[in-house]
Amino acid sequence: MKAVRMHAPGGPEVLTYEDVPEPQPKAGEAIVKVDAAGLNYIDVYYRSGLYKAELPMTLGLEAGGTVTAVGPNVTEVKVGDKVAYTGVAGAYAQYAAVPAQRLVVLPAGVSTKQGAAAMLQGMTAHYLACSTYPLKKGDTCLIHAAAGGVGLLLCQIAKMRGARVIGTVSTEDKAKLAREAGADEVILYTKQDFEAEVKRLTGKGVQVVYDSVGKTTFDKGFNCLALRGLMVLYGQSSGPIGPFDPQVLNAKGSLFLTRPSLVHHVATRDELLLRAGDVLGWIRDGKLRLRTEFEFALKDAAEAHRALEGRKTTGKVLLIP
Ligand code: NDP
Repeated sequence: MKAVRMHAPGGPEVLTYEDVPEPQPKAGEAIVKVDAAGLNYIDVYYRSGLYKAELPMTLGLEAGGTVTAVGPNVTEVKVGDKVAYTGVAGAYAQYAAVPAQRLVVLPAGVSTKQGAAAMLQGMTAHYLACSTYPLKKGDTCLIHAAAGGVGLLLCQIAKMRGARVIGTVSTEDKAKLAREAGADEVILYTKQDFEAEVKRLTGKGVQVVYDSVGKTTFDKGFNCLALRGLMVLYGQSSGPIGPFDPQVLNAKGSLFLTRPSLVHHVATRDELLLRAGDVLGWIRDGKLRLRTEFEFALKDAAEAHRALEGRKTTGKVLLIP
């Protein structure tokens, strides 16, 4: 079968389209024929070497497809099921071996492509808005990169929960998408000072900042928080933040800081099914809209990485084997 692998960290050019043996299911595993693999920013961190992995590796932590075989002791899925998953490496391929515990059977009316687009970014937006800071009516949140994969979903879920949403984006086109996803206010942080704008829009600041941009936004974000507000640093698409002095939290108003990860919010099968059930159910019911305009052939994974890193994409980017 074909897969996209990397043998050394580096730029998009290290991604190679290769022939590799088709996986066979071990006990507890199912084989998924991949219809679509999700591209996520974390793939860039692994590819560039910011996050370490054993090499060579097949990138990709998310896919949707059909179960074609199961190993011994699999009770969660059967051959022919339409499924999606996240959190298991190897999705940039025609077939993937996945622990059946991590698979979610898609509800009727949700396609495997939608499943691939929803699992990682959708459940991330879910835990950010429902668990890390359970947004409620009366809250205002600041969402950086609001037209990105997580961003558009987070705007919609934040609105569902009744919060006022301020989004930041780099271009007018992205601003339009963030507004369509429910953002009440959108700041072009490449042209406007987002700190001054947030202060102007809120007076006292926001209850929570959802920051996935990191290096270029993190420090100023603290000045956007209301007293005892929460800074949620959940990514670093502009680069890692430097060392952090906790005294900042005191000086700026008894603030809180957290650096959460999806892995710890779907650690048990019950929690995985609960979050995936909500997200996929909202998609089926038309309450949560996926944007999947950016599709690349699997062999063009390097091009897809360039587009994501070059801030050219909006919503989900899918790779089609
Ligand atoms: P996005 O679709 O959001 O793409 C990244 C966006 O970041 C860009 O489109 C761009 O939007 C913005 N950005 C700002 N500065 C830069 C820069 N210097 N270089 C590149 N992009 C920049 O990606 P994802 O939705 O896949 O991921 C968003 C973030 O969320 C990532 O940081 C990712 O690591 C993180 N994440 C964290 C998870 C967790 O559990 N902790 C889980 C899932 C994702 P604009 O042009 O509008 O500025």
